[in-house]
Amino acid sequence: MQRSILLVVAAAGLLTGAAAPKVKLVEPSYTLIPGSVPLDKGPDGNSIFLDAPQGLIVVDTGRHPEHAELLLAYAKQRGKPIAVIVNTHWHLDHTTGNYDIRTAYPRAQVYATTAIEGALKSFLQRGREQTDKRLADPKTPADVKAQLIRARHRLDNPDTLRPTVPVTKSAIMKIAGRKLDVHVAPYAATEADLWLYVPDEGLAIVGDLVVDIVPFMDTACAEGWQKALGEVAATPFTRLIPGHGAPMNRDQFNQWRKAFDNFIDCGQSIRLKEECVAGWKRDAAPFIDAEHGDYVTEAAGYYLDTRLRSSPEERQKYCKPGGV
Ligand SMILES: [Zn+2]
Repeated sequence: MQRSILLVVAAAGLLTGAAAPKVKLVEPSYTLIPGSVPLDKGPDGNSIFLDAPQGLIVVDTGRHPEHAELLLAYAKQRGKPIAVIVNTHWHLDHTTGNYDIRTAYPRAQVYATTAIEGALKSFLQRGREQTDKRLADPKTPADVKAQLIRARHRLDNPDTLRPTVPVTKSAIMKIAGRKLDVHVAPYAATEADLWLYVPDEGLAIVGDLVVDIVPFMDTACAEGWQKALGEVAATPFTRLIPGHGAPMNRDQFNQWRKAFDNFIDCGQSIRLKEECVAGWKRDAAPFIDAEHGDYVTEAAGYYLDTRLRSSPEERQKYCKPGGV
């Protein structure tokens, strides 16, 4: 998954035209461990490894044990410790693996915003209440039960999800000895999302501010999210890694962003729900594979009903602290 990029470095003496450009081979130091969005269980977010002087940085740790095993196997293969976990947001498909990583690397620090605190008292609290009911239901399949038990452990031990290094504002930070441009996006996919711009690689790692098939809007504030995408666009990135789906170039990001804006506009208008969902599927078509067609129809309709067309109070729920 690592790619070589040929950088043409103009040599000195251009004015004379005497020197030929030198070609320098640059190995980007990121590796993507892709997540997935299965149709029968919860998704895993993408995880991204960055090399740093003090070890490896991993951005997001997935949900399922298999994903965490891939992350640990990668670190083992590289022979470097995981020094830092960065969580783009608290959703459990990006944070459940924190515990697995820190069990293997107890000194790993966790950089994240403090949005988890509000979620533990609202969204995750409600999820926790549902968990025991679903576990007691004989109709719940065994693999779903395993997922619920794993999530319940994290919710009952919230330090497994909390940052050890809370990030409260955007700043250029040295993380594990590597300089990163850290952005905090308030009221976006969660109360505060975190995204990275890696200046020496022209790389933006944006978590669920971009999700290829459909924006996961369960705890979204549409206006804040749109603002955050504007801030991503303002960085000079050439490659962007979304929270779910394949890396994008700038043109692909622009197309996805336009589809997102259209979906929000349609959702906030009086146009038919079916029209808005069809509009999303048309505008975002290059990012939606055939297997997920029905999933996207259902999810886009659900977010339209629950977030964009709910009561004014409900619509603003995640545009203020706590999400309650
Ligand atoms: Zn996600």
